[in-house]
Amino acid sequence: MAYKISDDCISCGACAEGCPVSAISEGDGKYVIDADTCISCGACAGVCPVGAPSED
Ligand code: SF4
Ligand code: SF4
Repeated sequence: MAYKISDDCISCGACAEGCPVSAISEGDGKYVIDADTCISCGACAGVCPVGAPSED
């Protein structure tokens, strides 16, 4: 039930800054969400300029 970041990610970092549980980190070519840490609050989807995060 965690959120996931698609390949549309442009690595702006906005989601990582806004995540309340620091579940997002910079990965290879895009940002990635640690599914075990994510609490599915939806904040990342709200701040992302390209709509990359969505519920898995
Ligand atoms: Fe973090 Fe919330 Fe996005 Fe999960 S849904 S990665 S907890 S901002
Ligand atoms: Fe990628 Fe969107 Fe996060 Fe920016 S806010 S790093 S584009 S997922």
